[in-house]
Amino acid sequence: MSSYAERRARLVAALDTAELDALIITHPPNVRYLTGYIGSNGIGVIGRNGERLLTDSRYAVSARHQVGDDVEVVIGPGDLTAVLAGAVVALAPGGRVGLEAAHTSMLRGAQIAASLTARDPAIQVISDVGRVEALRLIKDDDEIASIARAAGMVDAALASVLAAGIVGRPERDVAFGLCTELFQLGAEGSSFEIIVAAGPNGAKPHAVPGERVIADGELVVIDLGAIADGYCSDMTRTVPTGPLPDALTRAYAVVAQAQAAALAAVRPGITCAALDAVARDVITAAGLGEAFGHGLGHGVGLEIHEAPRVSREGTETLRPGMVVTIEPGIYLEGVGGVRIEDLVVVTEDGARVLSHSPKPSVSSITG
Ligand code: ZN
Ligand code: ZN
Repeated sequence: MSSYAERRARLVAALDTAELDALIITHPPNVRYLTGYIGSNGIGVIGRNGERLLTDSRYAVSARHQVGDDVEVVIGPGDLTAVLAGAVVALAPGGRVGLEAAHTSMLRGAQIAASLTARDPAIQVISDVGRVEALRLIKDDDEIASIARAAGMVDAALASVLAAGIVGRPERDVAFGLCTELFQLGAEGSSFEIIVAAGPNGAKPHAVPGERVIADGELVVIDLGAIADGYCSDMTRTVPTGPLPDALTRAYAVVAQAQAAALAAVRPGITCAALDAVARDVITAAGLGEAFGHGLGHGVGLEIHEAPRVSREGTETLRPGMVVTIEPGIYLEGVGGVRIEDLVVVTEDGARVLSHSPKPSVSSITG
């Protein structure tokens, strides 16, 4: 059984438990996960009576190639509403049909429901949330290998750009250099807009690289990710460009300590909230809790931000095969910021770190 067929079989089992006869899959990463289809206009219909992938003529050739023979590919017009209704009525007549509510606008959901019930008044359309995402939580070996490959590209790109020197260059020039390196290393793209935030700009966790020229004696937050085989990576390093003011040296030391503590705590059975607390407690004990506003991390896979959320509110318990980031930060408005982020895969007895870029040691930044 192909990995796609195996995923679909697990989805059908989950649908049985939920007493759903089929699920309409509208979220592109979920469609890709279940069928292999890569494109901007594809809907999956998966149920115990069969599987269809609906797309339009622009993707006819590539969809048949990507999806293989297991799943029937239906080519419709650009608006797939009518072919979707035909597929659902064929696979789940009079049935209870789930619709991915988190990824379908109210307008689109109403159109789909109206079109289905016009064909088959007995069909019930049920809002369904997180069912494919629950399968995606646990990565198989091939997925982990792709994520590790994407992480390796980031390590190599950062090493190359840092070796060339970043002082005296505008942030956006460094970001462009990193992006170019990623493509040269074979990445399909950058998994998000690369962040290069120097000096006070580092206090903005999602800063946009600008014209500011990187100077001596400041911290530069560099956050980047690559895409390999459709899978994302994500890593941040904070790089000193010379001796720093005491506030930044101290912030760096605290984040480094918090990140190391959280990395050491990653293992099956810990809840995401408890893991967040491991790092947060270190930062709070240093009197800087207010300066760490975001969660400790997030899942990474076909999407750069996916389940589980590693935050104070994170209810998920870590299990082997989950891939998450560990990225505490301290942001001091007007002064600068620090974030250190690694990508890890949860193993049977702990974690394997997939990011290997060196981290500047605390002693190296005190000048
Ligand atoms: Zn990141
Ligand atoms: Zn991240």
